[in-house]
Amino acid sequence: QPAKVSEKDPQAVALGYVEDTKRADSKKFPKHAPDQKCDNCQLFQGKPSDASGPCAIFGGKLVAGGGWCSAWTKKA
Ligand code: SF4
Repeated sequence: QPAKVSEKDPQAVALGYVEDTKRADSKKFPKHAPDQKCDNCQLFQGKPSDASGPCAIFGGKLVAGGGWCSAWTKKA
């Protein structure tokens, strides 16, 4: 089981990662929208229904399915 990304990890802080997209800093990241979540991000490697899954940006560490970061990319 890969390690979980902590919101306090330096890379997580830099990307504004939060475990709940509702807590994203939309002042700092104005392109954030509430329907953007890790489980509908192109870089999420889990299934859409998974509570957490590996993220490519974070080297395969686990991010929350309902999380968000500023690298969010619409699933193609
Ligand atoms: Fe979540 Fe996508 Fe950011 Fe990874 S890149 S933490 S899956 S929003």
